[in-house]
Order: sequence, then C-alpha cells, then structure tokens
Amino acid sequence: MYDSDKKFTFPFDTCEKPNKTGFAQPWSTLVNILMCVMIFYYFLNSNTFYSGLFLISILFFEIMHAFSHSIHIPGLTQYYLTHVFGLFTIITFGFMLYNYTNVFPKMQYLIIIFIIFIIDIYILFKNFGFIYNILTYFVIFLLTLCVYYPYMSPSIKRNLLYVAGLTLIIYAIEYNELMNCNWMLERFHFPYHIFVEMTGFVAIYLLCSTFYKI
Ligand SMILES: [Zn+2]
Repeated sequence: MYDSDKKFTFPFDTCEKPNKTGFAQPWSTLVNILMCVMIFYYFLNSNTFYSGLFLISILFFEIMHAFSHSIHIPGLTQYYLTHVFGLFTIITFGFMLYNYTNVFPKMQYLIIIFIIFIIDIYILFKNFGFIYNILTYFVIFLLTLCVYYPYMSPSIKRNLLYVAGLTLIIYAIEYNELMNCNWMLERFHFPYHIFVEMTGFVAIYLLCSTFYKI
C-alpha cells in the first residue's frame, strides 16, 4: 500500500506507516494496549460468569489486535486469528444477552446469522480484504444488538444506540482509510489508523461499563 514493491497484509495495510524495526505501528499498538488495561479493569470487577466471559473475549481480541499492530508474522495467520477472536466476542455477547433476558433468538435470526457467517468465511479464505470481513462482523454484531434491544432498560438502550452509531462511524473511517490513505499520508504524515482505534475505544468502553455488572 505504501511501497509499490512490497505487499502489506493485515493489519499493516491499515493507515499507520509500519516501522521496519521495533514496534511496527506504535501508535495503534499503544491505543490498543490502553484498551486492554481498561477491559481488564472491568473484567476484574465483573459480577457474573457471562459478563466476565464477554469481557475476557474482548480482552483476547484486543490483545491479538495490539500484538498484530506491533509484530508481523509473515502470512495471514494474524488476520485469521484476529478475526476468529472477533467472532468469538459476538458469541459471548449473544450468550450474555441470552442469560440476562432469558430470550432465545428466533429461528429467522439464527438462519440469517448463519448465512452471513458462511459469507464471512468465504470472504476470509478468498482473501477479498479485511474491510469486507469487518462489514460481516459488524452486521452480525448489530443484528444481535437489534434482537435484544427491546428487552433492555432505558439506560442500556441509550448506550447501545451510541455503540451502534460508533460502529457505523468506525466502518466509515476505516473505509476512508483504505480509499485515501496514500493521499492523506502524502499531504500530512500522521498515524491515521488511531482514529479507528480511539472510536473503538469509546465503543468498547461503553460496552464494558454497561455490561460488567449486569
Ligand atoms: Zn487496528
């Protein structure tokens, strides 16, 4: 993406020019490490098994995310692992909301999720690009959120609306990064990917603070 003779793979094709030695993308790594500390704090204070499970799954995802921005293992292993950890956060999110509400999702929902999941796996192995996998991930996440939204208290509903809005903003920023990264770097050198990370930080903070005691 930055050098025409070198092909970067996820996450080094995100918009923070990777260093050749040391931490490859230090700014993105730093924001993710701070996120890990925040999630760990809420995990230690969680009060139920299923909220703890949800928080620890986000923590594993973020550890993998931070690691992927700092050291690059050749090939697509990190891309696959980060995505698998990401999918696991949706499973634990659904599990937590099911335990909280005692509402089992309708069959139509499960069929739609299954179809999107198959599309997601197809995109992953055909290596169409991580932007499409983020899209399938967000669609599954938002659908899960929609299913349980009516059963939530007004304060949780408000936070979930913020999370949904931030999810759309994250996708828009990431899409812009992918389209305009070189153009932006030529004009002003800056680790633009931290805007995605910082918006993600706020969304994850809202999820942690809303659900650690449920
Ligand atoms: Zn990132």
